[in-house]
Amino acid sequence: MEKKAQLYEGKAKKLFETSDPDLVIQYFKDDATAFNAQKKGTIKDKGIVNNNMSARLFRLLEEESIPTHFVKQLSDREMLVKKLKILPVEVVVRNIIAGSLAKRLGIEEGIPAPFPIVEFYYKNDALGDPLVTEDHIRVLGLATAEQVRDIKNYSLRINDVLMKFFDERDILLVDFKLEFGMHNNDLLLGDEIAPDTCRLWDKKSLEKLDKDRFRRDLGKVEEAYQEVLKRVMK
Ligand code: ADP
Ligand code: UDP
Repeated sequence: MEKKAQLYEGKAKKLFETSDPDLVIQYFKDDATAFNAQKKGTIKDKGIVNNNMSARLFRLLEEESIPTHFVKQLSDREMLVKKLKILPVEVVVRNIIAGSLAKRLGIEEGIPAPFPIVEFYYKNDALGDPLVTEDHIRVLGLATAEQVRDIKNYSLRINDVLMKFFDERDILLVDFKLEFGMHNNDLLLGDEIAPDTCRLWDKKSLEKLDKDRFRRDLGKVEEAYQEVLKRVMK
């Protein structure tokens, strides 16, 4: 599949059109940002890790009857996907309290949630991606009630599949972010699932194996991404 004009350059990926108007190519960069792009850097070979890992996980989810945008992996940094109209809502699922939720609720990082917590954020860089309720989503017209219901059901099923997958690889799936979009009349999982968008802790040592190593200057960032890829691909 031939890469045509660039449609978009984001913080971590570029999107290219193809000869098929229904399909686009995601190109995964090494660029890393955090705190609403106030912190910038690069993580060597991150694009390769995120592309290969996302491809593996999208295949896994498709096997479990969860519809995704994934068509095929084209190269180490390129993935062919169905073109989506992305809903401007980021979905976060949490199994262990961490990050912004630990801060907001004043709970220590690492306390297990009694059930998976689902949160929605308004994908809007100017506003800093604020937390929104289902009513806010409807007031803003970001998604319909039916889309919200389906997104929630898919997200919880995805959590079940991914928790088991990572557990078998001695990794705790602490939390993760998903994006969904419409392709014709179908709601599909889009974007990526990778250490940039998940919190992944080693089951025994609780060592962080994700983007928090970059966010919090913990060192061994590249090593953590490579370790996750190794375990995901085994
Ligand atoms: P950001 O836009 O936040 O900087 P990225 O650098 O990851 O993020 O850019 C990728 C962009 O592509 C995101 O805005 C994402 O919502 C969008 N996207 C993901 N999958 C698809 C798809 N299948 N079709 C169209 N857009 C997509
Ligand atoms: N996340 C993401 N993109 C965002 C915000 C969060 O991929 O724009 C992921 C993040 O990597 C983590 C989960 O969503 O796995 C929950 O993030 P949190 O709300 O704790 O925010 P953070 O403090 O990480 O910005």
